[in-house]
Amino acid sequence: MTTLVWFRDDLRTADHPALAAAAEDPEGMVLLFVLDEQTPGARPLGGAARWWLHGSLAALQRELADRGVPLVLRRGAASAVIPDVVAECGITRVVWNRRYGEERHADAELRGSLRRAGIDARSFVGGVLHEPGTILNGEGRPYRVYSAFWRACAAAPEPAAPLDPPARWIPAPRRPRSDALDDWDLRPTDPDWADGLAARWEPGERAAREALDRFLEERAAGYAEGRDFPAKPATSELSPHLRWGEISPRAVWHQAIASGADTGTFLSELGWREFAWHTLFHAGGMHLRGIDARFDAFPWRSSEESADDLVAWQRGRTGFPLVDAGMRELWEAGFMHNRVRMAAASFLTKNLLIDWRAGERWFWDTLVDADAASNPFNWQWVAGCGLDAAPYFRIFNPQTQQRRFDPDGRYVDRWAPDSLLVPELVDLRASRLRALAAFDEISGAPRTRETGAD
Ligand code: FAD
Repeated sequence: MTTLVWFRDDLRTADHPALAAAAEDPEGMVLLFVLDEQTPGARPLGGAARWWLHGSLAALQRELADRGVPLVLRRGAASAVIPDVVAECGITRVVWNRRYGEERHADAELRGSLRRAGIDARSFVGGVLHEPGTILNGEGRPYRVYSAFWRACAAAPEPAAPLDPPARWIPAPRRPRSDALDDWDLRPTDPDWADGLAARWEPGERAAREALDRFLEERAAGYAEGRDFPAKPATSELSPHLRWGEISPRAVWHQAIASGADTGTFLSELGWREFAWHTLFHAGGMHLRGIDARFDAFPWRSSEESADDLVAWQRGRTGFPLVDAGMRELWEAGFMHNRVRMAAASFLTKNLLIDWRAGERWFWDTLVDADAASNPFNWQWVAGCGLDAAPYFRIFNPQTQQRRFDPDGRYVDRWAPDSLLVPELVDLRASRLRALAAFDEISGAPRTRETGAD
């Protein structure tokens, strides 16, 4: 038997159930990553995510080369590449960790066709604490409210302890050909806009572990109080590492608890990530339509009418310093603090009355942590059409938010010191009233649609 491990969004060696199973194979293993931008249901990666993927693959390649089993890179539809590699190397078993977005249907098809061809194809738990489908309410339905969901998670069996990296690494006798990572052009070149990303981030498993250690040693104690202040280094900055599975949520969970620090609030944020993934699993299509069906008829401004305002928001030129600072941080560093994401998203969807999907797409392209579940889930939450969303009338006031969460102006000074000189794009009071009137138009319609999450 020779085993093929198919890496996807789990670019690590520790707590990797598929890799751990493959390492038991005395005939050796082939380790493969497929750049597949054709999987039905998978969204093409945004620019910042491609940059991150390059760094993460380069780090994994180095790590695996040190262990004596190279990472093979191939490009194309996985449904074609995997059978090719199976044939090339005489593979008898294919293993992977599960995905929970819509690509899972393509994964199931591939598993079926491999099995029909006599290959032992198996999948293992993926990048979640609890598998979607295992946390359901008393009627066997998915939860709609976060607090009830998280209580049910707490009552479920504890997430399994993370697995160590394999103790032995046996390469397969036959090695398939591999693309060169640089040939994939994942990093921007003309122009190269990624200097700010490179200055801020280091992709890879080692950097992910260091970020968690640093958080638990230096930041965890002040997290609950500091996490809302964008100028403070108070949060973990683990999100891009979790996005690419450079560290598993189970590893984060167990190390946080073992640290003895007060990590309840931090773990409940990880719970939101979990809730977003479970919701995507049940509801599907989350970046395409609001979970609350009333919003199908929401009177957004047309894209023609709002085009200039959308560009001003994207460029951080709205005249509202907290929003502008966030949007410029996003452009420069591929990241934005959670509090500012909420303020910027609220400003777009409510004060500018621009469809949340336009903002979601921009974040998808520019965030290094752009995540198929968390991004649309949070956009829907802010826009008011998501699960457990804030009541529509709670519209963030960007000036009040700035006074509360950046009281000494450090965040704004760092990212958008000139914003006050930019003419304000809208009148906050009038635009708030316009948003409330728009919501009145749809508030009487039925809220539910026939999806698993209703
Ligand atoms: P910490 O505060 O240290 O939290 C620890 C971990 O918990 C994070 O790394 C993340 O995995 C998870 N987490 C925290 N808050 C949330 C949340 N609200 N929803 C889901 N998971 C959460 N997060 C993404 O990972 N990818 C996205 O594409 C994304 N898009 C967002 C879009 C909008 C409009 C908003 C309001 C939020 C979005 N978030 C997204 C959630 C949140 O802003 C980031 O996870 C967080 O800022 C990452 O910083 P951190 O790792 O320091 O978080």
